[in-house]
Amino acid sequence: MSLLEDARTRDAADPLREYRDRFALPEGVIYLDGNSLGVLPRATPERLDAVVRGEWGDGLIGSWNDADWIGLPQRVGGKIAPLVGAAPDEVIACDSTSVNLFKLIAAALQMQARENGKRRKVVLSEPGNFPTDLYMIEGLRRQGLAERRLAGRDALVDALVANVALLLLTHTHYKTGAVHDMAALTRAAHEAGALVLWDLSHSCGALPVDLNACEADFAVGCGYKYLNAGPGAPAFAFVAERHHKALQQPLTGWMGHAAPFEFSDDYADAPGVDRLLCGTLPIIGLSALEVGVELVAEIGVDRLYAKSQALSEFFRECLAVHGAGLDLVSPPDPGRRGSQLSFRHAEAYAICQALIARGVIGDFRDPDILRFGFAPAYVSFSDIAEAARHLAEVLERGEWDRTEFKQRAAVT
Ligand SMILES: *Cc1c(COP(=O)(O)O)cnc(C)c1O
Repeated sequence: MSLLEDARTRDAADPLREYRDRFALPEGVIYLDGNSLGVLPRATPERLDAVVRGEWGDGLIGSWNDADWIGLPQRVGGKIAPLVGAAPDEVIACDSTSVNLFKLIAAALQMQARENGKRRKVVLSEPGNFPTDLYMIEGLRRQGLAERRLAGRDALVDALVANVALLLLTHTHYKTGAVHDMAALTRAAHEAGALVLWDLSHSCGALPVDLNACEADFAVGCGYKYLNAGPGAPAFAFVAERHHKALQQPLTGWMGHAAPFEFSDDYADAPGVDRLLCGTLPIIGLSALEVGVELVAEIGVDRLYAKSQALSEFFRECLAVHGAGLDLVSPPDPGRRGSQLSFRHAEAYAICQALIARGVIGDFRDPDILRFGFAPAYVSFSDIAEAARHLAEVLERGEWDRTEFKQRAAVT
């Protein structure tokens, strides 16, 4: 049986095959970059048309109440909650992942300062974490509020010493796809008196996450990757219920006020995670996020994860059959990685461009990583077989070795 026949047999048996049609995938494209920007769900333009023409165009300002725009962050947060093992009132959809990181790092440091005097300022993370996570610590360091410490994966537990206030980690690594042991690291942090903030940007909607079973304190996650909510979509934030009373965040905008429409001169925290809101809600973005989240919830994270593991293993099998020797930097055990495979190659950028010219969209991460995401809601086994064939041919023929494939665009 050829690889493509094998793939077609797998597609026919795939319980998620019907969902591919729920996404507006362009003709002739094999899309292995849903971990960077998820595909447009077919229901989204219709929903946004209703929001823009109906709720905004016709309903005008009355839609804040009549269309419950004002309740969207909580409503969408409540739908994200079961995807990450949280209670509905522990999650709110708002702002960007970066901004939510800033708010929650600051909140955690302040909680620690109140409980432990001024001793704990250290935010512990790992080198090579997603840049924005590290840069947000820097912003707070400049305010005199944080100190940054980095320790490699194997040294994290030992680095959890008495002055660490917060452990900040990305659950699924954006470059390698390696997944941290959330339960074990959260426990180790708590034993050292530290709080934990998990970035779920490459986890939410791709693999099962159980924040409350792990007793996580805080989390953030991204709307435009596996939740398919579109470029710059609102993100989400989680705060464990036990911290709701003590939660204070630095961006005390009027939407996080207990009674914004009393227009008081003095700030008062809204209840629970509502106080994480800052400015006027991005209704169009939140509406698109709601569609994306509902679709992921309908398919189910367990089924998505099972298929993503099968897809990535099949990709490796196909590459092996083609004899395409590539240096895998993702964990070889599918149980220890997210929904992606990354390979190291000195010409990763040019290879990625040569693949795009063939209609296979993966991505490149500086300096030498070739990354393929397997968003299982819309990627088929046939896509995988074809992508592996294209990749093998590009390598075998040295097709990447052309000037046009080596010129870097603004966004890589
Ligand atoms: C994608 C991603 C982000 C995105 O942050 P934005 O504020 O949306 O730009 C943050 N953290 C991680 C780990 C990511 O992968």
